[in-house]
Amino acid sequence: MAEAQNFIEQIVETDLAEGRAEKIKTRFPPEPNGYLHIGHAKSMFVNFGTAKKYGGTCNLFFDDTNPTKEKTEFVDAIRSDIHWLGYSWDKEVYASDFFEIIYDYAEKLIAEGKAFVCDLSAEEIKATRGTLTEAGKESPYRNRTPEENLKLFREMRAGKYADGEKCLRAKIDMGSPNLNLRDPVIYRILHAVHHRTGNNWCIYPMYDYAHPICDALQGVTHSLCTLEFEDHRPLYDWVGINLGFAPKPRQIEFARLNVTNLVMSKRYLKKLVEDGAVHGWDDPRMPTLAGLRNRGIPAEAIRDFCSRIGVVKANSECEISYLEAVVREYLNANAPRAMAVVEPLKLTVTNYEGEEEVDFEINQMKEGAGTRKIKFGKTLYIEKGDFSLDPPPKYHRLKIGGCARLKNAYIVRCDEAVTDEHGEVTEIKCTYFPESKSGNDTSGIKAKGVLHWVNAQTCVDAELRKYDHLLKDAAYAGQDFAERMNFDSEHIFSAKAEPYLAEAEEGTAFQLMRTGYYKTCKENGKLVLSEIVSLKDNFNK
Ligand code: ATP
Ligand code: MG
Repeated sequence: MAEAQNFIEQIVETDLAEGRAEKIKTRFPPEPNGYLHIGHAKSMFVNFGTAKKYGGTCNLFFDDTNPTKEKTEFVDAIRSDIHWLGYSWDKEVYASDFFEIIYDYAEKLIAEGKAFVCDLSAEEIKATRGTLTEAGKESPYRNRTPEENLKLFREMRAGKYADGEKCLRAKIDMGSPNLNLRDPVIYRILHAVHHRTGNNWCIYPMYDYAHPICDALQGVTHSLCTLEFEDHRPLYDWVGINLGFAPKPRQIEFARLNVTNLVMSKRYLKKLVEDGAVHGWDDPRMPTLAGLRNRGIPAEAIRDFCSRIGVVKANSECEISYLEAVVREYLNANAPRAMAVVEPLKLTVTNYEGEEEVDFEINQMKEGAGTRKIKFGKTLYIEKGDFSLDPPPKYHRLKIGGCARLKNAYIVRCDEAVTDEHGEVTEIKCTYFPESKSGNDTSGIKAKGVLHWVNAQTCVDAELRKYDHLLKDAAYAGQDFAERMNFDSEHIFSAKAEPYLAEAEEGTAFQLMRTGYYKTCKENGKLVLSEIVSLKDNFNK
């Protein structure tokens, strides 16, 4: 058997070994009220990953008990994001598939005197719930007979009452130290159209009541969820015991994934989209899976990240630089190399005529990646910042009289800078050394700097987009998301790129030499290079 890597796997192993489960079954339970984010990737890693590792299966379970917030658009996006991340589910199940059965179970609880219809308003229920140190107050409706409750509950279903006028509560213990057991509401009246059941229902079960039933009906053995549900477990178990499902399924909680500089709340992400603060759910700065995919982050890197941060029981916050380091590591090993110049400066090789092809290594980190040909010529572009009229000491890039190597081509010496009327350098003139060709350098000339370049004759115009984090640094932690937002987080530059980048399939990730990792796409026929992650590793190991 596979070796347990975390406390959940240990529990699963014990349950399998001791015969409490023959085959494990989990479920990934999103609510279709928004797009999945990287926190959900961790939940998927745990649910799909654990099931697979122990020969079991995982369902996709849509927790659709809040009709006013849920939409088919979100269902579709969730399905495709899960596939993109590389997981596949056994059955696709909806809480709404079970509405009729969930309702019947409520009647059963009522018949057994374990649930009652309550006329208190939501505010009154809250006010009589008590506190952590004080018991709650029993509802005056608590001792209605099962017959009366049944009649009222059926009337609730039939639409006789307005929203909030009545509700169904489990009859547990108003003195329980656990607030979740103080006669929790298990059904509410809500005259709303559901994205699947339409107008069939005007009462909807509450999550804490519906979830254990849905788990049991799916044959879930291990209901894996995040820590905020720990206090709800006694209620989960109460439902299971009173409806005769227990001891299966069992609920196990693990820590949520929090990442610095990332907003991890669907509610707030939705606000960003609605306010137009970002271009949409798939904006490359969004921590949604759609955003990460659009950013160019490979699914494999996200799965790898989830596996490396581990599954524990204590909440913590992960540095975003760690996520970036994992992505960078993946791209460094896999992304082909190419060249683009962000702030182009014309470089003329005065003693060069004609053109020739030079070999360019596709990815020196990847065995067998090989080389491709790029065209060298008389007129090139280099980065404006790679030339200085007034260089500091030990400047290895180009300066008047200084030498540098043009990547995979020749060493050049800068002889002259042409300036405009403002003193801005508009062009530099260089001499190349024919014997200094990369791979066959017999010139004996020393050049420490290696510069990237593009050929002015063959290059294409591109728009290059760089991103900052959407959320300002942890120094702002504790502040409201709204105060931490960095609205100035997208920066656009014009660039000159190798034609190779325009020819590549859209969405390909490249390492642009000395610039960063970028993804290509076309917008209105124009090449767009959009930043995936910077080159520099600022993760403090
Ligand atoms: P949000 O607070 O972002 O709206 P949620 O918990 O309401 O998230 P659900 O759609 O209910 O979102 O989540 C589906 C599953 O994913 C749940 O089991 C939930 O516990 C889990 N999940 C959500 N966010 C995280 C996270 N940051 N880390 C790990 N698991 C998460
Ligand atoms: Mg939720």
